[in-house]
Amino acid sequence: MAAVCLLRTRSLFRQFVPGLPAAMQRQYSLDISSQLLRTQGYVDGRWVSAASVFPVLDPATGQELARVADCGPAEAKQAVDAAYKAFYSWKQFTAKERSYLLRKWFDLLTLHKEDLAKLITFECGKPMKESLGEIAYSASFIEWFAEEARRTYGDIVPSAAKDRKVLLLKQPVGVASIITPWNFPSAMITRKVGAALAAGCTVVVKPAEDTPLSALALAELASQAGIPPGVFNVVPCSREKTPEVGKVLCTDDLVAKVSFTGSTATGKILLKHAADTVKKVSMELGGHAPFIVFDSADVDMAVAGAMASKFRNSGQTCVCSNRFLVQSGIHDRFMEKLGRAMDAELRLGHGSEPGTTQGPLINSRAADKVVSQVSDAVSRGAKVLRGGKRLHGSFMEPTLLAGVTTDMLCTREETFGPLLPVIRFDSEAEALAIANASHVGLAGYFYSQDISQIWRVAEALEVGMVGVNEGLLSTCEASFGGVKQSGLGREGSKYGIEEYLDVKYMCFGGLKP
Ligand code: NAP
Repeated sequence: MAAVCLLRTRSLFRQFVPGLPAAMQRQYSLDISSQLLRTQGYVDGRWVSAASVFPVLDPATGQELARVADCGPAEAKQAVDAAYKAFYSWKQFTAKERSYLLRKWFDLLTLHKEDLAKLITFECGKPMKESLGEIAYSASFIEWFAEEARRTYGDIVPSAAKDRKVLLLKQPVGVASIITPWNFPSAMITRKVGAALAAGCTVVVKPAEDTPLSALALAELASQAGIPPGVFNVVPCSREKTPEVGKVLCTDDLVAKVSFTGSTATGKILLKHAADTVKKVSMELGGHAPFIVFDSADVDMAVAGAMASKFRNSGQTCVCSNRFLVQSGIHDRFMEKLGRAMDAELRLGHGSEPGTTQGPLINSRAADKVVSQVSDAVSRGAKVLRGGKRLHGSFMEPTLLAGVTTDMLCTREETFGPLLPVIRFDSEAEALAIANASHVGLAGYFYSQDISQIWRVAEALEVGMVGVNEGLLSTCEASFGGVKQSGLGREGSKYGIEEYLDVKYMCFGGLKP
């Protein structure tokens, strides 16, 4: 176990409390172990500088948290080379040895959960309670894959020929490039890296420009856990450098696998990059989840599910519900109870302020998108029942819209913000047609107490994950991933590690009876 660090670093920031005049805003501090506030890249077990730096901002206040090394293609290439060199020794570790090191990494994440959660809150804006939840979720993938490392069984297959034996052996694919978004700055990394390292692969991680600090803190703890140099590398970079760095990571001959989480648009670019050298790919892309409430639903359960599924991380998760479909018989009761729940439960503020449930959106562009969807819906006849306005900076009021129709922008494109648009429907067939009318299919949710309807709808929804009377479904034990343009492959579960393994067929011939 690493020594608990006594050194603390303290930096003061103005806290933004929506609605309070600037002069009355409180000071806020990011008070974490200095060992966890890393600002250089991490390549081959060393902290490396770059020719320039880029700022990391607190999205709630706009204040600068740190300046981070702006790695370019040269650093990315160094990281790939280091990972390639390390692969040949890492894959020779026994599964038990890899499992042991992953378990040590998990223990350190758990030990430092408060500081790691503060980092998430300050760089991504998430309320502290959710950030602590993300660290538990993030660590769970390291623990899960520490266990799965020892179960990458192959097969001995009955042969059709008497003089042959047929063996199928699982082997690590090699160096994996890992590109991740800002909305889960820790968990989107560990969900991939846990599986990759367990399988015997080495990795180069490129975190999002907005949230490199969580990735670098993971590197510090990986180092403390004894994960060897070159096995886990991190190359932070600014949005300006991202395309060049991404190109190295997705085209270099030494890279065998690209695993990406982010928007469908970016996923398509990376798929094209990876095609030239025929790399194995995993793509966790955008969603546009339907949330259907049938007449038979328990309305209180449906309201609780809607609140959890919509407003987590201020609506900025890929599995957040985007399109609420509510059957006519239950519609008015649902709307009334939902409005009351929003009034009672949602509180905007800085994520580190106790009681905050809604932080800012990640940046102005994100808030602009929500505002444009609200204006479009209103111009086409929707009614604003709650919220609707953008506040200071990138804070956005949680918004409830009624009378939404399928021609509105908010039903046609992913929102990624605290907008809850409700479409009224009459029949199950109508609801399914609307729900499935999307080119993406990540998650879907529905509420019903009719067991036949539950089976029908769960099977008919064109998504990779279904919540039945449940608004939160992510867990390391289950497979995460989508259909259609929501991506390729699965993370977590017993399937996640397969994304980093090849199957080798060994034919033993000429055997004498
Ligand atoms: P994004 O713009 O696609 O960015 C994701 C990552 O890709 C970031 O690290 C970004 O770097 C990088 N990137 C962007 N352009 C690139 C390029 N040309 N080459 C290489 N890397 C590139 O997505 P986002 O807006 O940050 O995240 C939100 C999206 O992610 C939503 O659509 C959401 O549904 C999806 N998401 C999906 C899942 C899932 O599991 N399916 C989970 C979370 C989020 P920069 O930060 O420097 O731009």
